[in-house]
Amino acid sequence: MTQHKSTRVAIIGGGIAGLGLALNLHRRGIACTVYESAPEIKELGVGITLLPHAMRELTALGLQDALRAVAIENAESRFFNRFGQLI
Ligand SMILES: Cc1cc2nc3c(=O)[nH]c(=O)nc-3n(C[C@H](O)[C@H](O)[C@H](O)COP(=O)(O)OP(=O)(O)OC[C@H]3O[C@@H](n4cnc5c(N)ncnc54)[C@H](O)[C@@H]3O)c2cc1C
Repeated sequence: MTQHKSTRVAIIGGGIAGLGLALNLHRRGIACTVYESAPEIKELGVGITLLPHAMRELTALGLQDALRAVAIENAESRFFNRFGQLI
């Protein structure tokens, strides 16, 4: 544990991978700094699908309730080819 206190981690990129790693390190008491090249973080106005493996990781970070409060649980997913035929 004492070695963690002196360890500092640089994370390059503040996407979901970088921010997820930062939260995981934070929970373990490891200091880190996230470096993001984008000058501003803003909403794109589109929805994203959180698949089960992603939700498992976000739940482990304690984010399930916060996500449930803003998310819609989908009943099913359908994929179509470019001719509109169900795959
Ligand atoms: C149109 C579209 C729709 C998608 N929809 C979904 C979906 O519904 N569900 C889903 O699970 N996935 C979806 N994905 C995939 C998902 O977006 C990616 O898998 C995910 O964003 C990858 O995360 P990441 O953190 O690895 O990379 P990124 O999100 O690409 O983050 C990398 C970050 O690093 C920064 N960066 C790059 N170079 C540097 C540098 N040299 N210094 C500092 N910062 C740097 C970038 O600005 C960026 O913010 C979609 C992707 C696209 C393109």
